[in-house]
Amino acid sequence: MADSITDSSCSNLLRLVNDEEVIAFTRSFIQTASVNGQEGPAAEFIAKACRDAGLQVTLREVAPGRPNVLVVLPGELPEIGLLFHGHSDTVPFLSMADPLSAEIRDGSIWGRGSVDQKGGLAAAIMALITLKRSGVHLRKSLAVAAVIDEESEHRGSYALVDDGLKADAAITTEPSDLQLLVAHKGTAPIQIHFTGVLAHGSNPWVGVNAIEMAAKTILRLKEIPLKSIDIPGVGVMQATFNVGLINGGTAYNNVADSCSIFLDRRTVMGEDQWSALEEVRQLLAKLASEDPKFRAEAEIARPDWQWEPIRKRGLKPSMTSPDSAIAQAIGAAHRLVTGQPVDVGFTNGYNDGDFLVNDLGIPTVNYGPGESPRSHTAQEKLRIDHLLTAVRVYLETALTLAA
Ligand SMILES: [Zn+2]
Repeated sequence: MADSITDSSCSNLLRLVNDEEVIAFTRSFIQTASVNGQEGPAAEFIAKACRDAGLQVTLREVAPGRPNVLVVLPGELPEIGLLFHGHSDTVPFLSMADPLSAEIRDGSIWGRGSVDQKGGLAAAIMALITLKRSGVHLRKSLAVAAVIDEESEHRGSYALVDDGLKADAAITTEPSDLQLLVAHKGTAPIQIHFTGVLAHGSNPWVGVNAIEMAAKTILRLKEIPLKSIDIPGVGVMQATFNVGLINGGTAYNNVADSCSIFLDRRTVMGEDQWSALEEVRQLLAKLASEDPKFRAEAEIARPDWQWEPIRKRGLKPSMTSPDSAIAQAIGAAHRLVTGQPVDVGFTNGYNDGDFLVNDLGIPTVNYGPGESPRSHTAQEKLRIDHLLTAVRVYLETALTLAA
């Protein structure tokens, strides 16, 4: 009976978590390569494991060979009381040695995607499988959405929005170092293109140097006032700029007639990519008014974005109250499992909680295993103690919100 679940019976359910199985499942998932664009085999891996465990599985092809997976543990009611959200894609292997080894060393599982973020997805799936086996009565349903393409055009989460997915609350299972992160920033990719006049390098006064325009602009970017938001009880979130890419010139002995830079402008609540773009355009207009030879244009662009809908929508910040039912439930579950209060904060990064909060209206927080600074690095390894804690916190939170 749902209403007969007490703290001690929850603890009994927590004891059903099979640590060896969780570790083995996570290692196999890491060994199934799923670099962005090639998520198919990882989706099949999840689908098979969940079907074998008796969960309901729906594959939804978002792009050819790239399905989202929706896993459901049905309750008495079809409404989803808690949705776990994670992405099945990883960044490329880059310089990582043995990216698919899933070797256990230093109490961690090594491999590309171990932290970002197969550990979080594996923990959510194992929580549902454990609950299914327990036979516990659930009033509401539970779900895991394993989406594609988080590392590039976010088509997986975009598809969840198209499908009108509904849930009372959600957890993004991205690595958070087991902190409860109630807000994340948005990211506005802005390309500025500078146009000069080509000339021989021995007569620079004849030409106009586009690289020099870029250099001057980069130094003047600090004139743009960057907004900060004080989230009571959580901290101050500050907008930032980073110049991540520069391309320009044709030869060392030519005056460059062309140069472009890409800015990664991180936005806070109340901003979006269009407001950030407008600020850059105003700075460029000021520079042009000071120098009639200055020619520059800014637009929303990112080298890997070909898909128009994401360029138009952009990636927005979002926040869910630390007093929300989902934040409170995770806080209580973390304390029950670890004996410690959870650290509450926000992330300077971006996550797909954006789509859940801003488009689907689902209160969403981020809580996941793994140290996020290891994401995308050659030292990507998932702490096993984090993984095993996350399964238990997810299971306990699911019971709080669905039983
Ligand atoms: Zn991620």
